[in-house]
Amino acid sequence: MLTAVQPTPGNLTADRLPKGEDLAFDVDKVRADFPILDQTIHGKPLVYFDNAATTQKPMAVIRALSSYYETINANIHRGIHTLAEKATAEYEATRETVRQFIHASLTEEVIFTRGTTEGINLVASTYGRQHVTRGGEVIISTMEHHSNIVPWQMLCEEKGATLRVMPIDENGDIVFEEYEKLLSEKTQFVAVVHVSNSLGTINPVKRIIAKAHEYGVKVLVDGAQAAAHLDVDVRDLDADFYVFSSHKLYGPTGIGILYGKKALLEAMPPYQGGGEMIKEVSFEKTTYNELPYKFEAGTPNIADTIALKTAIEYVTRLGKARVARHENELLRHATEALTEIPGLRIVGTAREKISVASFVIEGIHPQDIGIILDTQGVAVRTGHHCTQPLMKRFGLPGTTRASFAMYNTKEEINRLVTGLHKVLKMLS
Ligand code: PMP
Repeated sequence: MLTAVQPTPGNLTADRLPKGEDLAFDVDKVRADFPILDQTIHGKPLVYFDNAATTQKPMAVIRALSSYYETINANIHRGIHTLAEKATAEYEATRETVRQFIHASLTEEVIFTRGTTEGINLVASTYGRQHVTRGGEVIISTMEHHSNIVPWQMLCEEKGATLRVMPIDENGDIVFEEYEKLLSEKTQFVAVVHVSNSLGTINPVKRIIAKAHEYGVKVLVDGAQAAAHLDVDVRDLDADFYVFSSHKLYGPTGIGILYGKKALLEAMPPYQGGGEMIKEVSFEKTTYNELPYKFEAGTPNIADTIALKTAIEYVTRLGKARVARHENELLRHATEALTEIPGLRIVGTAREKISVASFVIEGIHPQDIGIILDTQGVAVRTGHHCTQPLMKRFGLPGTTRASFAMYNTKEEINRLVTGLHKVLKMLS
């Protein structure tokens, strides 16, 4: 069980905040961009605190989607007619926007996938199959999402390799010295989450990568929860692979990014075979296309890719630093307010956190909390959050998780607190 650790309200330290903008953040103006927020649930104004599962979409993104279908829908790359050329140009423009967003050197290093999960499976099935061998070891951490556990487990089973796990402490921080001890000549890959979806912990991925590189080992970073909250600089991190999903970044579902260093991607076999990923096909032999197309078999998710560009532009225009500062304030307010509730314990009190408040209340099942909060119009996530081994580490069946985004307010957190007092009244 987690011992009583006093949470530091708003643990995100100033030097981790994206730098740049100092201007005030107008949350009302931001909220006006998200039409879904303006509704009632069970007769109460919606409070949406399930942002770590997926964020809501601004009107600009919704418009980009419908405008694509209204004006330029066509298949890309092979067509020579005007619409095909327009669609191709817009699709490839997203690749350049993503490149800038994550500070990659080359657009060829940006591969479109269906999401984080597919990006990890792609790397496990290609780079992993090439480099993980019998007797070898793959290191992950205790706080991984199932999507950064199962593909490596499957690979290890197939190859006769062993999955090793970096331990975490009671706060939800990786014990770095233990990670160092796990690294050895046997290590063949490291896969680690940048930001934990269950705890909010920001992991020291730059240090983790540097240490693995001392052993010549490549590292994949699961950035699903980081992309919307932190400045991601794949070159500064020296990440070999970095994956994330559009839908947690105010963009559509069904589109994600795999960043990989060019030399690694070039040496990897394709993931799926089909159209687009080939140069020439005969019944005797197929030659594969260049990067990034080698990894993009079939007609891709054109509309959602194009709308992802709008989402990234939206976040960039608001300024990540401003958004992060606002979210950090929300976390600070929530941590203070929640700690006042009798029997409530915050799970995840890491040194550096994004705006995730996971908690348990003594004697009350998280699911009951979630159901009662929903009747109050407050949407939270309850359960294991696709991190069952992490829950086991803390001796918990699950938690209630409130995760905050750019459009949330302190008043909404107060609604959560009022809702929790109602839960206590009803169930304790
Ligand atoms: N990793 C983390 C840390 C996540 O939070 C999630 C989504 N909950 C995933 C991976 C999987 O992302 P997706 O379902 O978009 O593939």
